[in-house]
Formats: sequence, structure tokens, C-alpha cells
Amino acid sequence: MADRTVGLVGLGVMGANLARNIESRGHEVCVYNRTTETMRRFLREHAEGHRFRGMETLEELAAALPSPRAIILMVNAGPPVDAVIDALLPFLSPGDILVDGGNSNYQDTEARCARLSGKGIEYLGMGVSGGEEGALRGPSLMPGGSRQAYDHLEPVLRSIAAEADTGPCVAYVGPGGAGHFIKMVHNGIEYADMQLIAEAYDMLRRGYGLEPQRLAEVFSEWNSGELESYLIEITADILRTEDDQGREGLLLDYILDEAGQKGTGRWTTKASMDFAVPTPTITAAVDARALSSPKELRTHAFNLLPYRDEIEFGSHETTSQVREALYASKICSYAQGFALIAKASEEMNWGIDLAETARIWKSGCIIRARFLDDVSAAYRIEPKTPNLALTDRFVGEIASRIDSWTEVVVAAMRAGIPVPAMAASLTYLNSLRTRRLPANLIQAQRDYFGAHTYKRIDREGDFHTQWY
Ligand code: NDP
Repeated sequence: MADRTVGLVGLGVMGANLARNIESRGHEVCVYNRTTETMRRFLREHAEGHRFRGMETLEELAAALPSPRAIILMVNAGPPVDAVIDALLPFLSPGDILVDGGNSNYQDTEARCARLSGKGIEYLGMGVSGGEEGALRGPSLMPGGSRQAYDHLEPVLRSIAAEADTGPCVAYVGPGGAGHFIKMVHNGIEYADMQLIAEAYDMLRRGYGLEPQRLAEVFSEWNSGELESYLIEITADILRTEDDQGREGLLLDYILDEAGQKGTGRWTTKASMDFAVPTPTITAAVDARALSSPKELRTHAFNLLPYRDEIEFGSHETTSQVREALYASKICSYAQGFALIAKASEEMNWGIDLAETARIWKSGCIIRARFLDDVSAAYRIEPKTPNLALTDRFVGEIASRIDSWTEVVVAAMRAGIPVPAMAASLTYLNSLRTRRLPANLIQAQRDYFGAHTYKRIDREGDFHTQWY
């Protein structure tokens, strides 16, 4: 592959690592950072023997790049992206390529694509997943926007992406904000995966009374089966890590139980509302993080309405039921995320290939998992399926786990262990498979107070009744 010269703006955690990754694949990288000292430090630490060139101004950066220029922005999402674009524009020419590799909101990316195509700039909004390690060694890349820009940069992107047994984890996702949209849903699914694992851990530890050492073994065992994934693997590691501040026991036990979030999970939930595609497991995971935050309020509630903190589930001797509940819940959460992508793709005319989406998440990103091969296969065989959980590939897997799954959720509820994501997945499935939902009563109530009309099951048309 012919080497290229690319520009990179923003040498923060992600930008510095991505620049090193690109250079390590044989390309020259011209680097710029708003705070020049950061750029100088980067060169001091990494430039010796490598093809980096430091730029002190954006004008200098533009002048250093061959035509068409290709510049990757790795700055914070929101106004910083516009600030850099506006500052760069006077030095760019039609046909030049800008790539936003940050976690931008897909609607911002849509707007930037439209605005910049009017100026002849080829714009790509590219989701990058895998954290700093992924950026350095091979991330999952989700580029969307200008096809021309993608085609031009494809050799570079393929060279820096994570390599899976199914090929490099990058593909053109679709026009406009398609790339950032699937990155957003990826993060929503990541929230759900993490929450589901946390609930399984909580049940095993508090419900079944498993000691950390045994828990670590359980997660390691799970990592060689259907649940094999990066998040299960790191959970096993976490359950083996002793405190690093000299206290006895697990480091995990000294970590405050308040979960942080940066917002992409919340964006997924908002998008699910906008596109009217329910994602209850993802939403439950976002809510669970928010609920964990007011520790004082939770302590107050515990003092007012305490429940036993040590709970015995009783007779269960194996952990397999929890594993089955976790796997079935995961299938439903992915079904929700992919249904959201499918609907958005249809409404926005993005033409997103769902099998390819699962494929490029196979390696490099946080939700990487063996399971994604099955998701990809399911969508290759049934590309138009309305729901992943109902495909031939998965319906049997769900059916064989429903009993264990239900038992686990009920046991957790009885014990007072919160399992919002597992319960949301189970309720999602039960709502789908219930022959008759009470939505008829909702329609009657709507017609009663608002004359909203209803449909009947035995005749065509819209009906309204004087109810009293
Ligand atoms: P950092 O905070 O480490 O770096 C931010 C960079 O943006 C710095 O180079 C900063 O320059 C630059 N910047 C901020 N505001 C402006 C501005 N107004 N004009 C010019 N430059 C500006 O962030 P990360 O590297 O962690 O994240 C970068 C992007 O990647 C974000 O969108 C983030 O959401 C996304 N991302 C991050 C992941 C992670 O694990 N950290 C994973 C995946 C995506 P200066 O040094 O001058 O402040």
C-alpha cells in the first residue's frame, strides 16, 4: 500500500494514540494541537525515528499536506469541532477531506456534512471505539459521510483498524451522520452490556454468596463460551485485582458505587424516542447509572426502608442460570440497538448494512465479542428481519433460556437485588410474545377522554364511542 501524508488535529489521549497508530502503518503524520506545547511534547516523546512533523498553526498544517488534503480532527465533541473547522476552512480547497474522529452527535455531523459539501469539502464523521489502547493498536472505525472521502482514505483506515478473523474492522457505514449514529448506538449497547454484567455479578455475589476468587473463575469460564467478550474478560481480571493502596481485599470493594457517564448512552435513549424504537434495556442501563449517583439519597432510602444485604437465593447450586439470563438479556439488548439502527437508516436513507455493522464491532471496540459473528450471520441470512431475537439464529437460544431467565429475575426481585436491565430485556421479550397486550384498554381510555378513536379487531375503520 502506498504511504500517505495525513494531518491530525488534537493530540489529546485519543489523537496522540491514533497519530502513532497511523504513523506505525507507514504513513507520515503532520500533527497540530491548539496548545503548542502539547504538540512539542508529543514530538519529544515520539518523533525520534518516526515520520511525524509538528505544525504550530493550522495554516502551516494545510500548507504541509499534499492535495487533496486529508485532516483528521480528534478534539472534544461539540463547539470545538466547529471551531477547528472554521479556523481551517480559509486554508482548504475544494476536494479536501476532513474527518471528525471524536464522539460527535450524529445530528451535528449531518449538519456539518451538508454545510461543508456546499463548500466542496468532503466530510467524514467517523466513530472510533476502543479507548486509548484501541486508538494505538487498532480501533473499530465507523466512518460515515462523503463516499469519495472514504474511498480516498480507505487504505489508511484499513491499515490502522483492528484486524479480526473477518477482516479489518472498518467499512463505509453510509452518508451523513450514519457513522456517528452507529457509534452512538454502539455506546448505548456498551452501557447495556456493562449493566447486565454488573447485575449478574451482584446476583452471584450477594444472592449466591460467591467469593471473589470463585467469581473470577466463573467469569473466566463464561469467557470461553457464548459470552466470550472483552467486557467479560476484564470483569474476571477486576475480580482478581487486590487493593493497590495497601488495604486487604479486592480493590473493587473500595470503589465508590456511583457510576459516571459522558452522554452517548443518553443520546441513544433520546434517539430511540425520536425514531419511536424502544430500547428499554439500554435506557435501563442509562437510568441505572443515573440512579447510582445520588449516594446520599440512596443511603437515606436504605435507612428508611432497609432490606437484608446478605441474601441467600436458596437451592441454586450452579451459576448457569445467571449465565443464561445474561446471554438472553444480551440478545434482546442487541435486538433493540440494531432495530434502532435499522429504523434510523430507513428514515434517513442511510442504507446501513446491519451484518457489516456487527462485523466491524468484532474487534478493537469495547463490545467486541464472539457473539457478533452470530449477529452478523443472522443479518446476512435475514437482512430485513424486524427483530434479531426472532431470527432463526437466535429464537431457539432465547426459547431454551426463558425459564432460567425468568427464575433469576424473579429471585432477584424477591431478594431486593435490582436487576433493571435484565428485567427490561425480559419484559421486552414478554411484550413482544404476549398474544394480547392491554393496549386495547389504553386505546379505550384515549378515546374516552380525548375522542382519539380506536380500531376494532373485527371490522375496518376508526371508531369512536360515547363511553358513558
Ligand atoms: P482529550 O481531552 O484528551 O483531548 C482533547 C483535545 O481536543 C486536545 O488536543 C485539545 O487541545 C483539543 N481541543 C479541545 N477544544 C478545542 C478547541 N476549541 N479548539 C482546538 N482544539 C481543541 O480528549 P480525548 O482524546 O479523550 O477525546 C477526543 C475525542 O475522542 C472526543 O470527542 C471523545 O469523546 C472521543 N473519544 C474518546 C475516547 C476515550 O476513550 N478517551 C474513546 C472514543 C472516542 P488542547 O490540548 O489545546 O486543550
